Amino acid sequence: MYDAIIIGGGPAGLQAALTLGRMHRRTLLVDSGSYRNGTVRHAHNLLSNDGRDPAELRRIGRAEIAAYDSVEVLDAAVTAVTRVDDGLTVAVDGRLLHTSALILATGVADELPAIPGLAEHWGDTVANCPFCHGHEFAGRPVAVVNASPHAAALARMLEPVASEVFVVAPADVRAVAGTTEGLRLRLADGSSREVAGAFVAPAWTVRGEIVDALGLERQESGAVRTDPFGRTSVEGVYAVGDIAQPDHLPGPMFSLAAAIAGGQLAAAAVVQSLVAD
Ligand SMILES: Cc1cc2nc3c(=O)[nH]c(=O)nc-3n(C[C@H](O)[C@H](O)[C@H](O)COP(=O)(O)OP(=O)(O)OC[C@H]3O[C@@H](n4cnc5c(N)ncnc54)[C@H](O)[C@@H]3O)c2cc1C
Repeated sequence: MYDAIIIGGGPAGLQAALTLGRMHRRTLLVDSGSYRNGTVRHAHNLLSNDGRDPAELRRIGRAEIAAYDSVEVLDAAVTAVTRVDDGLTVAVDGRLLHTSALILATGVADELPAIPGLAEHWGDTVANCPFCHGHEFAGRPVAVVNASPHAAALARMLEPVASEVFVVAPADVRAVAGTTEGLRLRLADGSSREVAGAFVAPAWTVRGEIVDALGLERQESGAVRTDPFGRTSVEGVYAVGDIAQPDHLPGPMFSLAAAIAGGQLAAAAVVQSLVAD
């Protein structure tokens, strides 16, 4: 019987494991090894780790967690979760494990606009978040490849950073190729544009099999509905990181710092609930 099983070994899940480990709670963290920022080599906007490789952040996180004996880490994929009278069972590696609390930190998946060449540069010169990757293009031209109502706001955010912001609809870009200075966009009218980087708005979806199997309530955005401590609509089930949207926020906050904060708050709530029980 575990006090908590955490599904997901990104920043949200790792922080939850650290907090539970420090409180000597019997914890299992299960990680299938597929991270949203898996193609990124330099993550930014994380105090004390600005510019660090996310794989290195995960390695450091795991090393820190290894100091706490009550936490186990399993590299595997959870295949099912079921509610039972006194908690939940988790199916993993051909075993059924029992837990009082479940923390879902399974992240989201991105679907990029179908432009040839774009995916090869995802997480490097093609990004989605100006807070994470904008400064790296400072003083050079950037493209906003986005036809949504948010494109204009994104362009305005980038104005103080870039020398020029070129806004174009995805349907008007035929292909993207890497150059020594950044990217070349081949456009539908036959012309091309050289930019340092491009911002796209991928369609994202919650990794949802477990969410649906448990019948968790969602927000309009598609993210899992939580309170500020990551509690979902199902007793004993918490959601943190990219998959979660607390009621007081306008959408899920896609950042490392927010994922870490969410993981810590949910783990604290799990401890509170174990004490109350
Ligand atoms: C291109 C790109 C660049 C970014 N750059 C930055 C940046 O510079 N700075 C910043 O702050 N943010 C950045 N972000 C956002 C940041 O990466 C995410 O907000 C953060 O990684 C979310 O963490 P998470 O723990 O919620 O999910 P993830 O890191 O995606 O982790 C999900 C975890 O769940 C696991 N999992 C899923 N299903 C199962 C299952 N069934 N069984 C077991 N494990 C499972 C996965 O294997 C993984 O371990 C970037 C995002 C993208 C897409």
